[in-house]
Amino acid sequence: MYYNDNTIVFLDGQWLKANDAKGSLFSQTLHYGSGVFEGIRSYDANGEAMIFKAEEHYERLLYSARKMHIKCDYSVEELTNHSYELLRKNDLKNAYIRPLLYLGENMTLHTVDKVHLMLCGWEWGKYLGDSLLNVMVSSYERPNPKAVPVEAKVTGHYTNSILATTEAKAKGFDEALLLDRNGSVAEGSGANFFFEKEGVLYTPPLGNILPGITRLTAMDIAGEMGIEVREEYFPPEVVKGADGAFFTGTAAEIAGIGYLDGSPFKLDWKDTIGYKISERYKELVRKPSNKRQLTELKWN
Ligand code: PMP
Repeated sequence: MYYNDNTIVFLDGQWLKANDAKGSLFSQTLHYGSGVFEGIRSYDANGEAMIFKAEEHYERLLYSARKMHIKCDYSVEELTNHSYELLRKNDLKNAYIRPLLYLGENMTLHTVDKVHLMLCGWEWGKYLGDSLLNVMVSSYERPNPKAVPVEAKVTGHYTNSILATTEAKAKGFDEALLLDRNGSVAEGSGANFFFEKEGVLYTPPLGNILPGITRLTAMDIAGEMGIEVREEYFPPEVVKGADGAFFTGTAAEIAGIGYLDGSPFKLDWKDTIGYKISERYKELVRKPSNKRQLTELKWN
């Protein structure tokens, strides 16, 4: 599914067949989870591949790398250009692009100078599907931001996401909603969270979540529609029985939620603000001029 005999990947400056590209079993990333990555989508915009917010994603990649003391010799512009080249070489338009910065051979816990860059892409449907999601409040919390930089997209953080998703699936749910260490709602395993009550959208503030690029896009769309968005901490009890809720993420796009812990949301999905945002999002990502539009994320 991710590659076949013809798939080309970028590895350390070379374009190679995926079947011929090799990584070391002694990579520090493989053993200890210190690597950084991105998840980016390109869309067919009037017959041309257009990467949605490529610069924002690569700025976040470089930010994540700095947080993890991982050196990256590539600029945002180079990474963006290589991504377009990757799409061309693999004849992809609607695609998911996965850049990964992973470390060289080192079995100690010291930072590693040798860093590898891998870029690959494949066609991927909407990550959480198109049906309304049946979500459970996870028994797993998001990682403590004083233990790891939660706002960086670090490979090792995803052990937490895998545990939460596995628990949710085992209990018959589609997805997990994770709380922070204070019991407030944080985010999904791979997506940010919003809920709607009396015409206002609520989403957790930055601090315990990945600052999602889709989250910000949804907030911008809400702003364009004159809808107020409040960034607040709230417990899951406040969400249950609200008017509507949805996840946002590059892979998931805007995914409507039907139930939280079995309790349904009041409005039909098609009558929610979330639905309107999802419709606008679908248009926006396929617009030929979607570079650097709307709010920009600042990475310090
Ligand atoms: N939170 C987590 C934990 C994620 O993995 C993702 C996906 N990158 C998101 C939120 C959404 O971020 P974005 O909208 O930038 O894809």
